[in-house]
Amino acid sequence: VSLTLPQDQVPLKTLATSYREIAFIELELKHYDVALNMASKAYKVYKENNNPSKQSITARIIGEVYYQKRNPSKALTFYQEALSLATETSSQVDHVKALNKLGELYIETDELKAKPLFLEALGISEDASLLPEKAAAYRGLIKLEQHAENYKKALDYSKQLTATTEQIYQSREQRRLVVEKAKLDSHIMETELISLREQSSYDKLALEKNNNKIKISQQKNMIAELELSKNRYATLLLAILLFLCVCAAIYFYRTLGLSRKHNKVLDYQATHDPLTDSLNRRGLFNIIEQDFKTDKNSVILADIDHFKSVNDTFGHDAGDEVLRAFVDIIKSCVRDNDIVARFGGEEFCIVLTDLEQSRVERIAENIRFKTEAAEFIKPVNGLPLTITCSFGVALAGDNHVLPTELISQADKALYKAKEKGRNKVVVWSNDLA
Ligand code: GH3
Ligand code: MG
Ligand code: MG
Repeated sequence: VSLTLPQDQVPLKTLATSYREIAFIELELKHYDVALNMASKAYKVYKENNNPSKQSITARIIGEVYYQKRNPSKALTFYQEALSLATETSSQVDHVKALNKLGELYIETDELKAKPLFLEALGISEDASLLPEKAAAYRGLIKLEQHAENYKKALDYSKQLTATTEQIYQSREQRRLVVEKAKLDSHIMETELISLREQSSYDKLALEKNNNKIKISQQKNMIAELELSKNRYATLLLAILLFLCVCAAIYFYRTLGLSRKHNKVLDYQATHDPLTDSLNRRGLFNIIEQDFKTDKNSVILADIDHFKSVNDTFGHDAGDEVLRAFVDIIKSCVRDNDIVARFGGEEFCIVLTDLEQSRVERIAENIRFKTEAAEFIKPVNGLPLTITCSFGVALAGDNHVLPTELISQADKALYKAKEKGRNKVVVWSNDLA
């Protein structure tokens, strides 16, 4: 992928790494030409950029390609180059690897040169604990000793190789175990992290829940306060309403009282005569309608004689005074519960209850007498103001007679009294009918 990218955008050392790694893979696949091409490109970059370490590795790959291609002279050149570069960089791995490769090459060409190379590789790899390189050195040495038919030595080296291989295996196993343990630890840590995260999110939720609870209780408080102030306002409103109602009740009660009083006054005015303060005709008939029994009530009609001449002689005011005084005379002659009413002009009606005939007549006579005897105002021009009065009496007795009929009888008797010369009391009898 990195080789397909625009070349000017990929760093040169990255490209070189790609070439080198591809070369290595192609070598494994035995695609020697491609491997050589790739490795050469990498080699060129490392050389130009003065990177002896990587140059050494690449030179070893190239040497390997030539070695595989059965070109020992070229392989030798590049192996030697790899070795000298590795020495230059003091990289022990590269150094040992180059020694081993060179040794392998010499096994086939020059065995005498091979042995010291393997031994040197063995020494360095032992010092630096480079187990795979140590194993490679042993393999080289075993081959050499087998070629030389020194089987005992070959066996010794084989034992060493076995031990080293075991060591490699153990160290790999250990590494694998370490890796596994690290993976496990990492898994445990991840799990712990997840649980911590969950715990934290749970704590967060609990916190949020608590915050919500606080908010709810604050809102409840607010509602309660509002409710309280609402109640206060309601109470205040109720008190105001109650006060207004009481005021209205007082007002209506007083108005009602006044209107009752007013009505009473009106009623009184409608049923009474303002001049004499006795009942008027309407007042009289109201009472008669309600409570009048012809077997219990007797009627006296009284009419002042020649009253017109009183007015004419003494004046209207004097006439009024006479009327008032006349009513006083009547009232002085009857009981409190008897009815005295102005029947019209100078005519008055007296209704007496539960009185026998003789007493009724006597009352009429008494009024007549007192009137005749009374002097109403001081004499005017030596002329005294005296009056007389005529009376018509209709006595209680027959309950078949209507109240109006009884009054009519009294009227007829009064007419008779006038006819007879006035200043008289006439009791109605059938012969007057
Ligand atoms: P008689 O004996 O036939 O009853 O004669 P009289 O003059 O009394 O009767 P008449 O019906 O002719 O006259 C009644 C008079 O009474 C006429 C009227 O001026 C007078 N009168 C009626 N009401 C009043 C009143 O309230 N005050 C005064 N001062 N006079 C009144
Ligand atoms: Mg008269
Ligand atoms: Mg009259």
